Amino acid sequence: MVRVRFAPSPTGQLHIGGARTALFNYLFAKKHNGKFILRIEDTDLERSREEWAEGIMRSLRWLGIEWDEGPDIGGEFGPYFQSQRKDIYMEYINKLLEEGKAYYCFCSQEEIEKEREIAKQNKVSYKYSKKCRNISLEEAKRRIKNGEKAVVRIKAPQDGVTVVHDIIRGDVEFSNDQLDDFIILKSDGNPTYNFVCVVDDYFMKISHVIRAEEHLSNTPKQLIIYQALNLTPPQFAHVPMILAPDRSKLSKRHGATSVEEFFENGYLKEAIVNYLLLLGWSPGEDRTIIGLDEAIEKFELEKVSKNAAIYDINKLTWI
Ligand code: GLU
Repeated sequence: MVRVRFAPSPTGQLHIGGARTALFNYLFAKKHNGKFILRIEDTDLERSREEWAEGIMRSLRWLGIEWDEGPDIGGEFGPYFQSQRKDIYMEYINKLLEEGKAYYCFCSQEEIEKEREIAKQNKVSYKYSKKCRNISLEEAKRRIKNGEKAVVRIKAPQDGVTVVHDIIRGDVEFSNDQLDDFIILKSDGNPTYNFVCVVDDYFMKISHVIRAEEHLSNTPKQLIIYQALNLTPPQFAHVPMILAPDRSKLSKRHGATSVEEFFENGYLKEAIVNYLLLLGWSPGEDRTIIGLDEAIEKFELEKVSKNAAIYDINKLTWI
């Protein structure tokens, strides 16, 4: 059973990169009679806003994307909100602590800075010294009870490699000696993106994670979390970036970049969907016009380009 998710952080409008990722997930789900899930990743409470989440949902609906399941809100499916799932995440953080696969770290920001400075002087890349690995769970709990602040770090493997089998990019190898004992619970009590992403993808029974290439470097960390929790990971497909015509990072100066701007400026939905679909994917023939239904029929992840796509607003002006 194919189950995919689109997992935006509600920190701004839905821009074309996110919209294309959502479309690819949607096409893949529909092609395989699967399910498309919307998960709002709002664990960063400072940067997340409900209005952005609502705007993202409005934009998805405008594009013709509906989600297939979620909590019941007045007779229709709502998205899942990570901010409402903290108990689930804490259960699994505690499990890793009990099993000795994660540990509390009491190092202060200043201590970490000092370590970082020494690494810089020695011209080696910085890695946490792991000195808190030796503190027992009992002692750590006692120190926390006494008011000390701590983060939770996972014990990452020190040697060997972690391989990401990516449907678009093939096998991508990451050397484990580059990996730190990375943080899974911040000192403010909030779990980090990599951890909640793994727990949710597993419990939402996600079969394929299709997301932006910028997350490829997070995937080895997520594989290590899957391993620590004894869970089977999904399949991964990382979709290449969208760049401006001069191959620079896309920004405001390159014209409208959010779905909301498109509908406010009167662009036709079909034209935008058509344009986004063909940004880095081709149905195989030399086609310039394709609708959602036909794209569902023809969509294959293997046909998504490995190279960055170029976004040129001028190509949209004929519409
Ligand atoms: N919340 C992440 C973002 O908006 C998505 C992460 C993911 O798809 O795993 O970039």
